[in-house]
Amino acid sequence: MARNLTASAALFESARLVIAGGVSSDARRSIGTPMYVDHAAGSRLWDIDGNSYVDYVLGQGPSVLGHCPAEVVAAVAEQAGRGMSYAAQHRLEVEVAERLCRMVPSAELVRFNSVGSEAVHGALRLARGHTGRPKVLKFEGHYHGWFDPVLYSLHPALDQAGAVDAPVPVPGTLGQPPSAEGDLVVVGWNDLDALRTAMEKHRGEIAAVIMEPILCNSGAIVPAPGYLEGVRALCDEHGSLLVFDEVITGFRVAPGGAQERLGVLPDLATFGKAMAGGMQVSALVGRAAVMETIASGRVGHAGTFNSHPVAMAAANATMTILDEQRDELYGRLNALGERLMAGLRTAAREAGLALLVDGIGPAFQTYFTSEEAVRDYRDFARIDRVTATRFHSELQDRGVNIVPRGLWLMSTAHTDADIDETLQAATAALQAL
Ligand code: PLP
Repeated sequence: MARNLTASAALFESARLVIAGGVSSDARRSIGTPMYVDHAAGSRLWDIDGNSYVDYVLGQGPSVLGHCPAEVVAAVAEQAGRGMSYAAQHRLEVEVAERLCRMVPSAELVRFNSVGSEAVHGALRLARGHTGRPKVLKFEGHYHGWFDPVLYSLHPALDQAGAVDAPVPVPGTLGQPPSAEGDLVVVGWNDLDALRTAMEKHRGEIAAVIMEPILCNSGAIVPAPGYLEGVRALCDEHGSLLVFDEVITGFRVAPGGAQERLGVLPDLATFGKAMAGGMQVSALVGRAAVMETIASGRVGHAGTFNSHPVAMAAANATMTILDEQRDELYGRLNALGERLMAGLRTAAREAGLALLVDGIGPAFQTYFTSEEAVRDYRDFARIDRVTATRFHSELQDRGVNIVPRGLWLMSTAHTDADIDETLQAATAALQAL
């Protein structure tokens, strides 16, 4: 029951003549015709062929209040009329920073950028500058943006990734400087012994340990009990800074991100996506003693669009809503997500399919596997991704849009009626598999 994509296919043909590969980000490459969105509102998207979708992609995370939340739209319009770009200080950036410091447990000082990759870049430069050490430790399967120093071992082929207990950094693309690899240590996640061994081996060299505190780029994986506490202790023992990349988890899994939800504080953290309800803003936050190295000018940090007034207006409106209505909104994100997760498990059982639905209400994953748990990238790499791709397309044909690898993101605009409609579509999609 493929949907009509005539106009989308024609536009994609035109796009390929002028846009490299026809898409503006590799994350939007698609097996068939990519989605051409006409407009979006609340929990829904409409494509240019007139198909509508209940949307669980939400711009890859930003639209935590749903698309076009009225307060954010009004704030953006008002600020656009007062000036779009100052490259100067203004009141809103102070208000947003104050709220960030109130909402995020580890945030004592803030610097703004435009996108997540930039905030990560700032965090790692700061960590190296502050500690005087050369290396960064990252984990397999974790994504920290598309910049050279960290675009390694996101989804490496297992025959190139090295032994489980001795993974090698696998570059994400041609064109990365070979020197980047030398300054990176890659370790399997959710395994404290592996981290202990790596930190011992590189004693005195590791400036920062960076991770997604709840992994959302290779499944949706909550760390094992005690793991984050153990990582925190190892970082303290070795004098390395702990960096939480909360670009997806921030303002999504709790008002103060995964650090609030899981109760472990990093030295530095990066935010983006959901903090501005759809506009592009990111933030590097952290302990004052570390951020002081930026405050003093010893580590450089810049950007023409930093604290962009329109984006700050969106962040201010979004964060105010999330903060002031926190109990209701985060209660809804969790409850609706959990209802959907339970319904998907039932639908899969009835279709006779082995489907693991795991994660937390605001961000969860459907994995086609008969395993009981997915704990790290190596587990994730072994699941059936061919069926996941087919499920994604069967869902789209029935008006449901999820991240192709099987990630579902919830917004506060989703309703019980959306969940009913989604479960009906998912049941039919699973039967079709
Ligand atoms: N960090 C994480 C955890 C992400 O998921 C992403 C993007 O998906 C980034 C960083 C990079 O953010 P951006 O795409 O805004 O540069």
